[in-house]
Amino acid sequence: MIFDYHIHTRYSDGTATHQEIIDRAIELGVEEIGFSDHYGYYPNNWTTTEEVLSKMVEEVLYYKKSQDRINVLLGLEVDFYPDRIEETKAVLSKYPFDYVMGSIHFINGDNFDSDPKHPIYSKYGINRLYELYYENFVAGVESGMFNTMSHPDLIKKYNYYPTKDFKSLYRQVAKVLVEKSVMVEYNTSGYSRPCKDFFPSDEMTTIFIEEGVQFTIGSDTHKREHLLRNYRLAKDRLISLGLKELQRYQSSPTPLIDFMI
Ligand SMILES: [Zn+2]
Ligand SMILES: [Zn+2]
Repeated sequence: MIFDYHIHTRYSDGTATHQEIIDRAIELGVEEIGFSDHYGYYPNNWTTTEEVLSKMVEEVLYYKKSQDRINVLLGLEVDFYPDRIEETKAVLSKYPFDYVMGSIHFINGDNFDSDPKHPIYSKYGINRLYELYYENFVAGVESGMFNTMSHPDLIKKYNYYPTKDFKSLYRQVAKVLVEKSVMVEYNTSGYSRPCKDFFPSDEMTTIFIEEGVQFTIGSDTHKREHLLRNYRLAKDRLISLGLKELQRYQSSPTPLIDFMI
Protein backbone atom coordinates (compact mmCIF):
# COMPACT_ATOMS: atom_id res chain seq x y z
CA MET A 1 0.00 0.00 0.00
CA ILE A 2 1.37 3.41 -0.97
CA PHE A 3 -0.24 6.81 -0.50
CA ASP A 4 0.81 10.45 -0.62
CA TYR A 5 -1.38 13.15 0.90
CA HIS A 6 0.66 16.29 0.28
CA ILE A 7 0.66 17.33 -3.37
CA HIS A 8 0.61 20.77 -5.00
CA THR A 9 -0.37 21.45 -8.60
CA ARG A 10 -0.45 24.49 -10.86
CA TYR A 11 -3.47 25.67 -8.87
CA SER A 12 -1.03 26.91 -6.25
CA ASP A 13 2.78 26.76 -6.44
CA GLY A 14 3.27 23.37 -8.10
CA THR A 15 4.38 22.90 -11.71
CA ALA A 16 2.29 19.87 -12.72
CA THR A 17 -1.35 19.43 -13.65
CA HIS A 18 -3.64 17.02 -11.82
CA GLN A 19 -3.50 14.65 -14.80
CA GLU A 20 0.32 14.66 -14.85
CA ILE A 21 0.45 13.86 -11.12
CA ILE A 22 -2.11 11.08 -11.51
CA ASP A 23 -0.19 9.51 -14.42
CA ARG A 24 3.10 9.61 -12.51
CA ALA A 25 1.52 8.24 -9.33
CA ILE A 26 0.06 5.29 -11.25
CA GLU A 27 3.51 4.62 -12.79
CA LEU A 28 4.96 4.51 -9.26
CA GLY A 29 2.30 2.08 -8.03
CA VAL A 30 0.61 4.59 -5.73
CA GLU A 31 -2.89 3.53 -4.74
CA GLU A 32 -4.14 6.74 -3.18
CA ILE A 33 -3.24 10.41 -3.56
CA GLY A 34 -4.57 13.56 -2.01
CA PHE A 35 -4.28 16.89 -3.78
CA SER A 36 -3.56 19.58 -1.21
CA ASP A 37 -2.95 22.90 -2.92
CA HIS A 38 -2.31 25.97 -0.78
CA TYR A 39 -5.05 28.26 0.39
CA GLY A 40 -4.83 31.12 2.86
CA TYR A 41 -7.35 33.76 3.91
CA TYR A 42 -4.73 36.36 3.00
CA PRO A 43 -3.59 35.42 -0.51
CA ASN A 44 0.11 35.35 -1.32
CA ASN A 45 2.30 34.13 -4.16
CA TRP A 46 1.95 30.42 -3.29
CA THR A 47 -1.78 30.25 -2.57
CA THR A 48 -4.74 29.72 -4.81
CA THR A 49 -7.38 32.45 -4.54
CA GLU A 50 -10.93 32.05 -3.40
CA GLU A 51 -12.27 32.43 -6.96
CA VAL A 52 -9.88 29.79 -8.26
CA LEU A 53 -10.57 27.48 -5.33
CA SER A 54 -14.00 26.50 -6.63
CA LYS A 55 -12.53 25.64 -10.04
CA MET A 56 -9.81 23.55 -8.38
CA VAL A 57 -12.34 21.66 -6.28
CA GLU A 58 -14.44 20.96 -9.38
CA GLU A 59 -11.40 19.58 -11.19
CA VAL A 60 -10.33 17.28 -8.35
CA LEU A 61 -13.91 16.03 -7.99
CA TYR A 62 -13.90 15.28 -11.72
CA TYR A 63 -10.78 13.08 -11.37
CA LYS A 64 -12.18 11.48 -8.25
CA LYS A 65 -15.23 10.31 -10.17
CA SER A 66 -13.98 9.83 -13.71
CA GLN A 67 -11.25 7.24 -13.27
CA ASP A 68 -10.72 4.18 -11.12
CA ARG A 69 -7.00 3.48 -11.55
CA ILE A 70 -6.11 5.38 -8.39
CA ASN A 71 -8.03 6.70 -5.42
CA VAL A 72 -8.07 10.51 -5.52
CA LEU A 73 -8.86 12.61 -2.45
CA LEU A 74 -9.71 16.29 -2.22
CA GLY A 75 -7.46 17.93 0.35
CA LEU A 76 -6.17 21.41 1.08
CA GLU A 77 -3.16 22.92 2.84
CA VAL A 78 -4.25 26.04 4.68
CA ASP A 79 -2.07 28.86 6.00
CA PHE A 80 -3.15 29.28 9.61
CA TYR A 81 -3.94 32.86 10.65
CA PRO A 82 -5.03 33.04 14.29
CA ASP A 83 -6.95 36.26 13.62
CA ARG A 84 -8.98 34.79 10.76
CA ILE A 85 -10.31 31.48 12.09
CA GLU A 86 -14.02 32.15 11.51
CA GLU A 87 -13.49 33.66 8.07
CA THR A 88 -11.34 30.68 7.02
CA LYS A 89 -13.88 28.20 8.36
CA ALA A 90 -16.60 29.92 6.33
CA VAL A 91 -14.59 29.41 3.12
CA LEU A 92 -13.73 25.78 3.94
CA SER A 93 -17.34 24.91 4.72
CA LYS A 94 -18.35 25.58 1.11
CA TYR A 95 -16.50 22.54 -0.25
CA PRO A 96 -16.55 18.77 0.35
CA PHE A 97 -12.91 18.34 1.42
CA ASP A 98 -11.81 14.84 2.36
CA TYR A 99 -9.23 16.45 4.64
CA VAL A 100 -7.75 19.82 5.51
CA MET A 101 -4.17 20.29 6.70
CA GLY A 102 -3.11 23.26 8.80
CA SER A 103 0.28 24.88 8.25
CA ILE A 104 2.21 27.46 10.19
CA HIS A 105 4.03 29.44 7.51
CA PHE A 106 3.67 32.80 9.28
CA ILE A 107 4.51 34.12 12.73
CA ASN A 108 2.94 37.49 13.55
CA GLY A 109 2.56 38.17 9.83
CA ASP A 110 6.12 37.20 8.87
CA ASN A 111 6.66 34.31 6.45
CA PHE A 112 9.70 32.52 7.82
CA ASP A 113 9.99 29.54 5.46
CA SER A 114 10.72 31.22 2.10
CA ASP A 115 13.90 33.10 2.97
CA PRO A 116 16.79 31.79 5.09
CA LYS A 117 17.90 35.39 5.72
CA HIS A 118 14.49 36.63 6.84
CA PRO A 119 14.85 39.25 9.63
CA ILE A 120 12.53 37.13 11.79
CA TYR A 121 15.49 34.86 12.56
CA SER A 122 17.13 37.65 14.52
CA LYS A 123 13.98 39.50 15.64
CA TYR A 124 12.98 37.48 18.72
CA GLY A 125 15.89 35.15 19.39
CA ILE A 126 15.57 31.53 18.26
CA ASN A 127 14.24 30.18 21.57
CA ARG A 128 11.40 32.72 21.59
CA LEU A 129 10.79 32.15 17.89
CA TYR A 130 10.22 28.45 18.57
CA GLU A 131 7.82 29.31 21.40
CA LEU A 132 5.88 31.63 19.08
CA TYR A 133 5.81 28.96 16.39
CA TYR A 134 4.30 26.41 18.79
CA GLU A 135 1.83 28.96 20.22
CA ASN A 136 0.53 29.31 16.67
CA PHE A 137 0.67 25.56 16.13
CA VAL A 138 -1.42 24.82 19.23
CA ALA A 139 -3.90 27.55 18.27
CA GLY A 140 -4.17 25.81 14.89
CA VAL A 141 -4.85 22.46 16.56
CA GLU A 142 -7.47 24.05 18.83
CA SER A 143 -9.16 25.94 15.99
CA GLY A 144 -11.09 22.82 14.97
CA MET A 145 -10.37 23.51 11.29
CA PHE A 146 -7.82 20.83 10.59
CA ASN A 147 -7.65 17.06 10.39
CA THR A 148 -3.86 17.19 10.33
CA MET A 149 -1.06 19.62 11.06
CA SER A 150 1.57 19.62 8.28
CA HIS A 151 5.35 19.57 8.79
CA PRO A 152 5.20 20.01 12.60
CA ASP A 153 8.68 21.50 13.00
CA LEU A 154 9.02 23.52 9.80
CA ILE A 155 10.64 26.26 11.89
CA LYS A 156 13.93 24.30 11.70
CA LYS A 157 13.93 24.35 7.88
CA TYR A 158 16.96 26.67 7.59
CA ASN A 159 18.89 25.07 10.43
CA TYR A 160 18.00 27.52 13.17
CA TYR A 161 17.85 25.47 16.37
CA PRO A 162 16.97 26.50 19.91
CA THR A 163 19.50 26.30 22.72
CA LYS A 164 16.70 25.54 25.19
CA ASP A 165 15.44 21.99 25.72
CA PHE A 166 11.90 21.95 24.34
CA LYS A 167 10.98 18.34 25.11
CA SER A 168 8.33 19.33 27.65
CA LEU A 169 6.83 21.82 25.20
CA TYR A 170 6.65 19.10 22.52
CA ARG A 171 4.95 16.81 25.02
CA GLN A 172 2.36 19.50 25.75
CA VAL A 173 1.80 19.95 22.03
CA ALA A 174 1.33 16.19 21.70
CA LYS A 175 -1.28 16.15 24.45
CA VAL A 176 -3.31 18.87 22.71
CA LEU A 177 -3.12 16.97 19.41
CA VAL A 178 -4.45 13.82 21.07
CA GLU A 179 -7.13 15.68 23.02
CA LYS A 180 -8.39 17.41 19.86
CA SER A 181 -7.99 14.29 17.67
CA VAL A 182 -5.77 16.14 15.23
CA MET A 183 -3.10 14.12 13.41
CA VAL A 184 0.36 15.19 12.31
CA GLU A 185 1.97 14.68 8.97
CA TYR A 186 5.35 13.00 8.59
CA ASN A 187 6.56 15.34 5.87
CA THR A 188 9.35 13.74 3.84
CA SER A 189 10.34 16.92 1.98
CA GLY A 190 12.41 18.08 4.95
CA TYR A 191 15.08 15.56 4.07
CA SER A 192 15.66 17.49 0.83
CA ARG A 193 15.66 20.91 2.51
CA PRO A 194 18.64 22.71 4.12
CA CYS A 195 17.90 21.00 7.48
CA LYS A 196 18.22 17.55 5.83
CA ASP A 197 15.82 16.05 8.31
CA PHE A 198 12.24 14.86 8.25
CA PHE A 199 9.49 17.05 9.66
CA PRO A 200 9.19 16.22 12.56
CA SER A 201 12.63 15.36 13.95
CA ASP A 202 13.34 12.00 15.59
CA GLU A 203 13.11 13.67 19.00
CA MET A 204 9.66 15.09 18.35
CA THR A 205 8.46 11.96 16.55
CA THR A 206 9.46 9.83 19.55
CA ILE A 207 7.55 12.08 21.96
CA PHE A 208 4.51 12.12 19.68
CA ILE A 209 4.54 8.31 19.42
CA GLU A 210 4.84 7.99 23.22
CA GLU A 211 1.83 10.28 23.67
CA GLY A 212 -0.29 8.47 21.08
CA VAL A 213 -0.35 11.11 18.34
CA GLN A 214 -1.46 9.70 14.99
CA PHE A 215 0.64 10.14 11.85
CA THR A 216 -0.18 10.53 8.17
CA ILE A 217 2.49 10.96 5.49
CA GLY A 218 3.15 13.28 2.57
CA SER A 219 5.98 14.26 0.22
CA ASP A 220 5.06 17.96 -0.23
CA THR A 221 5.23 17.43 -3.98
CA HIS A 222 5.63 20.58 -6.09
CA LYS A 223 6.62 18.76 -9.29
CA ARG A 224 6.13 15.23 -10.58
CA GLU A 225 9.61 14.08 -9.55
CA HIS A 226 8.81 14.85 -5.90
CA LEU A 227 6.12 12.18 -5.53
CA LEU A 228 7.09 9.74 -2.74
CA ARG A 229 10.41 11.54 -2.19
CA ASN A 230 12.47 10.02 0.64
CA TYR A 231 9.64 7.58 1.37
CA ARG A 232 11.72 4.42 1.86
CA LEU A 233 14.03 6.20 4.24
CA ALA A 234 10.99 7.60 6.07
CA LYS A 235 9.44 4.16 6.43
CA ASP A 236 12.64 2.71 7.91
CA ARG A 237 13.03 5.68 10.22
CA LEU A 238 9.46 5.49 11.50
CA ILE A 239 9.75 1.74 12.12
CA SER A 240 13.00 2.28 14.03
CA LEU A 241 11.30 4.97 16.16
CA GLY A 242 8.47 2.60 17.02
CA LEU A 243 5.54 3.84 14.96
CA LYS A 244 3.20 0.99 14.08
CA GLU A 245 0.80 2.42 11.51
CA LEU A 246 0.05 5.32 9.19
CA GLN A 247 -3.41 6.87 9.13
CA ARG A 248 -5.52 7.20 6.03
CA TYR A 249 -8.37 9.61 5.59
CA GLN A 250 -11.10 7.30 4.40
CA SER A 251 -9.89 3.82 5.23
CA SER A 252 -8.47 1.99 8.20
CA PRO A 253 -4.81 2.67 9.04
CA THR A 254 -2.04 0.88 7.15
CA PRO A 255 0.49 -1.06 9.24
CA LEU A 256 3.92 0.42 8.54
CA ILE A 257 5.31 -2.96 7.57
CA ASP A 258 2.78 -3.07 4.70
CA PHE A 259 3.61 0.45 3.54
CA MET A 260 5.65 0.88 0.32
CA ILE A 261 5.19 -2.74 -0.71
ZN1 LIG B 1 3.67 23.92 3.89
ZN1 LIG C 1 2.89 21.97 0.98
